[in-house]
Amino acid sequence: MRVLVTGGAGYIGSVAAAQLVAEGHDVVVLDSFYQGHRAAIPAGARLVVADLADHGAVDAAIAEHRPEGIMHFASHTLVGESMQKPFLYLGENVRCGLNLLESAAKHGVGRFILSSTANLFGLPERVPIDEGAAIEPGSPYGEGKFILERMLRWIDECFGMRFAALRYFNAAGALSPDLGEDHDPETHLIPLVLQVALGQREHVTIYGDDWPTPDGTCVRDYVHVSDLASAHLLALHALDGGSRTYNLGNGRGFSVRQVIETAREVTGHPIPAVVGPRRPGDPAVLVAAGDRIRAELGWAPRFGDLRQIIASAWEWHRKHPNGFGDAGTAPVDSTDAGRTADSAVSKDSADSTGSADGRGAGG
Ligand code: UDP
Repeated sequence: MRVLVTGGAGYIGSVAAAQLVAEGHDVVVLDSFYQGHRAAIPAGARLVVADLADHGAVDAAIAEHRPEGIMHFASHTLVGESMQKPFLYLGENVRCGLNLLESAAKHGVGRFILSSTANLFGLPERVPIDEGAAIEPGSPYGEGKFILERMLRWIDECFGMRFAALRYFNAAGALSPDLGEDHDPETHLIPLVLQVALGQREHVTIYGDDWPTPDGTCVRDYVHVSDLASAHLLALHALDGGSRTYNLGNGRGFSVRQVIETAREVTGHPIPAVVGPRRPGDPAVLVAAGDRIRAELGWAPRFGDLRQIIASAWEWHRKHPNGFGDAGTAPVDSTDAGRTADSAVSKDSADSTGSADGRGAGG
């Protein structure tokens, strides 16, 4: 299948792109390099450097490459930032998604996979969270994703474009020692903890230890990025049977203290931790009920063990202490929009591209 992967140079998108290439699909990565990294794009994928805000460039890319399916990872992805900059998430994320959907519908793309989020559930009434749980987005980030989910329903109805909305819990781990997480700035727990182990930070701050949880720290469902990505491929194939929505997590919850303790065991570093105030917008516990995706797609996490997840991340961070170390966050050269290149060639190129207005890679 020919598949367009937006945000395919980012953390989760690049892993999905690698898995698609490995399965023999014809992959076109579309990325602005606002947050993505050239070196993350798998050999064998083609590359379109474009910003989803540039509807003309998006339309041209879809017209040229004629994808049968789209995986849409490119997005602003930070809950906290969305509380500071709601229009980036209620505006940009939604507008860019709409540009993509409009062109996809116009050019007859039949399959669409959306990176959605557990933030749709805000403060969940019950845990683990199944797909029937009340939707009450916890932030403009979650609200923007929910708007896109709702749009997809109508685009399926009106154009027959089948979709899967995958509501991620906490993506973590690395596909290989050469393909892992590299955000700037980094805000996620596991990479921050490992930066302490690398000596790049003095300590990690625990955002509150007075939560109603067994050890007082927040509980999250950390799911290996490779498992997350493989769910996209299964969903892509399953769309023959109709559109669908899944909560996508490990199904197991781990507290912040458990993460830090496991990282100490994996790295052999004492990883000092200090307790700070709660982070606004954090729910106490988020854990996915994975029954639907298991039953319908036969998906199950292969790397469900926290130790395995952290060990894979540690291999990546230890080998690449400065991440991809490229210029992936540099300002855009607008002449790049819509340019197509072979990724193997573009990886060697020293030029830097990005987006002035900032869609990064999703996840
Ligand atoms: N967290 C923390 N200290 C940090 C970063 C995160 O205690 O420096 C906590 C955060 O409050 C949450 C969990 O770790 O309970 C996972 O946070 P992360 O930002 O990785 O993902 P999120 O749950 O926000 O998607």
